Amino acid sequence: MVVGCMAEQYRDAMKKRVPEIDYVLGTFQKQSFGLILDQIQAGTTYDLSDESPSYVFSKSHHEAGAFRAFVPIMHGCNNFCSYCIVPYVRGREISRRPADILAELDALEDAGVREVTLLGQNVNSYSWKGPEGQLDFPALLRLVAAHLREKRGMGIGDGADGGADGGAAGTPGTGGAGSRGGIGWIRFLTSHPKDLSDELIRVIAEEPVFCRHIHLCIQSGSDRVLGLMNRKYTRDYFLGLVTKMRSAIPGLSLSTDILVGFPGETEENLEETLDIMRKVRFAYSFMYYFNPREGTPAVKLEGKVPDKIKKARLARVIALQKEISTSLMEERLGSRDEILVENRSRRSSKEMLGRTARDEMVVFAADPSRIGGFARVKLSGISGNTFRAEEVDE
Ligand code: SF4
Repeated sequence: MVVGCMAEQYRDAMKKRVPEIDYVLGTFQKQSFGLILDQIQAGTTYDLSDESPSYVFSKSHHEAGAFRAFVPIMHGCNNFCSYCIVPYVRGREISRRPADILAELDALEDAGVREVTLLGQNVNSYSWKGPEGQLDFPALLRLVAAHLREKRGMGIGDGADGGADGGAAGTPGTGGAGSRGGIGWIRFLTSHPKDLSDELIRVIAEEPVFCRHIHLCIQSGSDRVLGLMNRKYTRDYFLGLVTKMRSAIPGLSLSTDILVGFPGETEENLEETLDIMRKVRFAYSFMYYFNPREGTPAVKLEGKVPDKIKKARLARVIALQKEISTSLMEERLGSRDEILVENRSRRSSKEMLGRTARDEMVVFAADPSRIGGFARVKLSGISGNTFRAEEVDE
């Protein structure tokens, strides 16, 4: 049995090449997995053609003992970026029922989870219509924040978890998690710039539970290339959005995806990407060069960039990002922040690895019993892409 969205796309070719494959399950049929196993155990076969496929979100995404969890809130994508296979293999956007999301958050909190990442190919376009009413992504985030407050027996907006008053318990991005236990931090992935609304910026600014870190994919700094990619925004729009977000959300950290060597990309276009990287100063980037995906429009675009040039351009983008990341880290030295302690450090059993709400990795001396809890640290040094720190009281 082969499972997954790519498996579904290549179903016939795979079955032809490997006749031993009995079942190929797409993401819309994953609920059949258990039924198939039951039938095999009973010595019979399962007829997949009986299924009218519809996407079903799993109820739980928790790994036993883990204190971080990823909670899908939507599936599929309607954007059709010209290089991306997702809309073809995962289908159109489907949003998860808000009550199911809250129920999963409750279960995760009860299981000791402290940090949750809400997942979707484009979370900003979350849209639920049902008997409960109509909810977009900012409304879902407000619902989640209010729900977590209510669960702790506090009224909405009573500021008992810090709120806008500041102070240790209310530091933006920390949610005062250290003092209240339970889910202290919520992140979300991935944000498409064209759908990041003013209301979403307001929610993040007003609700301390949401981490002050947003992964906002830019892909290119050239309007011409963005057009060819069908990204539906321009570099000026992106720069304006960043200015708006940074003035509304102090301390906001941004990361991104950058794709170089797209068909038709010129030296000048690459310079525009390097220029926007210098202007925005992303904390980190996922950088890659164009690799055609069969079945996407980009495969047919003219002006293929030779591999050697793609690799050379990628090297320039990586070198610049390294420079920017290091300079941003140096600016942070001496500041204090809250971290969620994740694991033992790889280098020393007496040191723990944690992460700030801004998604910065931090190593500090502590006992392994601290794993899964929050700590306040002072950032005192840099080792590669990780901060060294010492624990402080305030
Ligand atoms: S790159 Fe992201 S937004 Fe674009 S089609 Fe793929 S999943 Fe959707």
